[in-house]
Amino acid sequence: IIRSIIRSLSVAYDREIILYTDQVNTEISADKQKIYQAIYILVDNACKYSDSDIHLQVKEGPTELTISVKDFGEGLSKEDQQHIFDRFYRVDKARSRKSGGTGLGLAICHSIIQAHGGTITIESELNEGSTFTIHLPK
Ligand code: ATP
Repeated sequence: IIRSIIRSLSVAYDREIILYTDQVNTEISADKQKIYQAIYILVDNACKYSDSDIHLQVKEGPTELTISVKDFGEGLSKEDQQHIFDRFYRVDKARSRKSGGTGLGLAICHSIIQAHGGTITIESELNEGSTFTIHLPK
């Protein structure tokens, strides 16, 4: 799934998207298309809201599989991080409008991951970038 997302978005945005991964041996029972959509939304956002390389990391822990999407772009304030998964929420309307989204992507991503019993966490600093991490139970 991840390699296919990288292939399409690196061409669409003409961007370097680097994948770091250990050997992952776990199989997860999941809706493949929905998981594709959730990861696609995070990588697409990373491309829209930053200008440099994107780093993807897949890791296997004792109880969960994590997929992190890291960008070095605009970042998000603590206040915005609290609302980012709300439907139709967009940061700074003027800034976001040039990329023409609806504010639904992250809400959809969040509900897909929740439906799989997982969570999404954010680490972000304004003007330094953001890391969105999907945690899926094994
Ligand atoms: P769409 O519904 O078409 O995806 P969108 O990108 O505006 O539109 P969301 O994906 O829900 O919608 O994102 C909500 C807002 O969160 C965005 O408008 C943007 O301001 C902010 N945002 C999302 N991802 C990032 C990111 N990686 N870096 C900085 N800001 C982000």
